[in-house]
Amino acid sequence: MTVRLYRRDPYLFEFEATVVRSEGDWLALDGSAFYPGGGGQAADRGRIQGLEVTDVEEAGGEVWHRVPGHSLAEGLMAWCSVDWQRRYDVMRGHTAEHMLFSALERADPSLELAKIDIDERLKRLTVKGAVDWNAALQAQREVNRAIAANIEVERSAMERDEADEEEVRAKLDRIEGDMVEVVEIGDFDRAACAGIHVMETGELGAVLISRIGSGGGGEVNIDFEVGEKAMEKALELANLSLSLADDMGCPVENLAATVRNAREELERGRAALRELSRLALGALEPREVVGLQVHAGSYPQLDRKEMREAAERVRNAGGVAFLVSTADKADVVLAAADGTGVDCLRLIDSCLRPMGGSGGGRPGFAQGGLPDPSLAGDLLDCLVSSLRQL
Ligand SMILES: [Zn+2]
Repeated sequence: MTVRLYRRDPYLFEFEATVVRSEGDWLALDGSAFYPGGGGQAADRGRIQGLEVTDVEEAGGEVWHRVPGHSLAEGLMAWCSVDWQRRYDVMRGHTAEHMLFSALERADPSLELAKIDIDERLKRLTVKGAVDWNAALQAQREVNRAIAANIEVERSAMERDEADEEEVRAKLDRIEGDMVEVVEIGDFDRAACAGIHVMETGELGAVLISRIGSGGGGEVNIDFEVGEKAMEKALELANLSLSLADDMGCPVENLAATVRNAREELERGRAALRELSRLALGALEPREVVGLQVHAGSYPQLDRKEMREAAERVRNAGGVAFLVSTADKADVVLAAADGTGVDCLRLIDSCLRPMGGSGGGRPGFAQGGLPDPSLAGDLLDCLVSSLRQL
């Protein structure tokens, strides 16, 4: 059984140990400070005899280290070092996760902890239940206050039944054995956990929630940063807010209201465009070309859905539709009823492509675009004269 040096001293990152098993790339040592991962906390990385440790796992009571290219035989001493910068970042993230969940749960006791992902790239807490920005920011405030108070993080071992009675936050069904390791952060949190934590909350520096997103199935992902990364992210987001406020032409304090108003205005604008497009397309008179009822027209900025629906209506009534909407480019919808002999795909090749456009669809219905909207008139001329060559 590997002696778990990380349990005795979570701050130990350089040590000497004897190889007790050597199997291919994998080594087991008599003692190890490498955390093999668990509880959502990533396994450590580092070096053994100068060679990179690419993976660490627990199996059969031993901690196994994957060290490609090693030539260490059983009985040899090895010099080992854990990648401390990475481990400390993960340790701090893991401690922050305890505190964040605890604060969120105090505000909403129905929340359940679904999953934890803590490594050097991502620090994520997944909960079952609803978390909005107000609740998240309140939790973040409480956690940062507890960080400023520099509360001691205490570890103790407790009997399983005792942990149950004392209402320690835990998934006892997931904990093996009769003894449970309990991590206590003052009055802030008490949880059963076999992961690695810091000794004082002040070590975290700061915690910043950087994203709240749906995890699917009624779950919410809460991403966060700790320490220098939290500070860096906070500054980056502050700069982003300030430059967005400049772009929107408002003081940063009004940014949220200004964006909300702009979105509402955009929605109203879209609804008006839909209505106007419907009216304009409904008023388009057909002209007869080689015995076909042809609805051809170019408009500044039509609603795309209305355009497609109008073209389908013409097609279903036995006619041909060439509809163009111009803005920064030209959008084109082509439709032709069966039996008219008009192939919309061929029209894309003969009229759109020579003007630098492209498109696709089927012979009876196609859509495309031209990068230069000023060619809309020429395009309609080309489409209509193609009919005369049928
Ligand atoms: Zn923990």
